[in-house]
Amino acid sequence: DWIEEEGTQRILRLLNGAGHQAYVVGGCVRNAILGVPIADVDIATDARPQRVAELARDAGFKVVPTGLDHGTVTVIHNGIPHEVTTFRRDVTTDGRRAVVAFSYRIEDDAARRDFTMNALYADADGQVIDPLGGLPDLLARRVRFVGDPEARIREDYLRILRFFRFHAHYGDPQAGMDPDALAACAANADGITRLSRERIGHEMRRLLDAPDPAPALAGMESAGVLHRILPGATSRFVAPLVHLEPPYAPDWRRRLAALGGSDEEEALRLSRAEARHLHSLKSAVESGAGPAELAYRHGAQIARDAILLRSAMTGAPLPPGWEDEIARGAAAVFPLRAADLMPRYQGAELGARLKEAEERWIRSGFSLSREQLLP
Ligand code: ATP
Ligand code: MG
Repeated sequence: DWIEEEGTQRILRLLNGAGHQAYVVGGCVRNAILGVPIADVDIATDARPQRVAELARDAGFKVVPTGLDHGTVTVIHNGIPHEVTTFRRDVTTDGRRAVVAFSYRIEDDAARRDFTMNALYADADGQVIDPLGGLPDLLARRVRFVGDPEARIREDYLRILRFFRFHAHYGDPQAGMDPDALAACAANADGITRLSRERIGHEMRRLLDAPDPAPALAGMESAGVLHRILPGATSRFVAPLVHLEPPYAPDWRRRLAALGGSDEEEALRLSRAEARHLHSLKSAVESGAGPAELAYRHGAQIARDAILLRSAMTGAPLPPGWEDEIARGAAAVFPLRAADLMPRYQGAELGARLKEAEERWIRSGFSLSREQLLP
């Protein structure tokens, strides 16, 4: 009964009513079974995309022909998009994108998915269809490739990263990873260089956002995958960082900083804002400044993350009272204004004097008053 969402129900029943197979599939079934939040609803059907679009339009849904050629139609209900994709089977692949053909068989559709836990289907009544034995794998938190790991990786090298990503979120950290899959990732690690940096960045962000990505990152490192993505990176500070983080929520940028790689901006195609954030965080970690000063200069969030990172990297305990210090620094307001130094100073000289006074004030622990700061 996890397909409670009204739009999903209506789309499934609409297709069923027209004589088609229709199931929710993939992440939404997996997450519903685990009781974790669902990101988006994917529906798989034997109806051809044109037919899906027709039926949905006639029933009054808003329809976006997202990728008719790839078999995907987006059906929108109450503003919520539902991706409806026709069953497909792989014909060939170039290691990046598969050439697909439509199919009428759910078994074909399941066989081209990456992991057994992602090849679970459920019908409108909530009945699970499990063509590949994904349910026992999911419940045992085993990330298992559909078919031979080596062959599946050669079809699409992104699956290397997806293997680690799904392990980070849904794997059993105690049981470790499937040794055959790990060996296949290691043997094909070079294939990663053929992927677009956007796709690598997307998977890495999601991996790093897992509650505890440390075991997966250690696996990536030992398989030779991590350094191919981020030269100079090491997984060793991630576990201590994750240990220090609660009650703060996971943040992929904080974990990325802990990897200590270089050129992340390029390697993961970070946005300007993401790159700026990461750069501030790294320079905050490296500076000798304490929590209050960091908070004044960079804001509370970067100050907090920098303090967590420093402790994780040095093994030193968190400084006593650090959270109060951050609050103090974030609230501090420099008491001097340009007008206070005019007309005695002008232009560049004025800027330099002001800066110098601000640095003195920061060094005083924000204690010097306006009068004490005046020349
Ligand atoms: P999330 O909740 O994190 O989005 P998800 O399982 O929905 O997880 P997606 O990346 O959105 O992950 O992919 C949706 C589904 O499509 C997967 O569950 C899987 O069945 C299939 N899939 C996606 N990418 C691949 C791939 N590279 N190779 C094979 N199957 C894939
Ligand atoms: Mg998804």
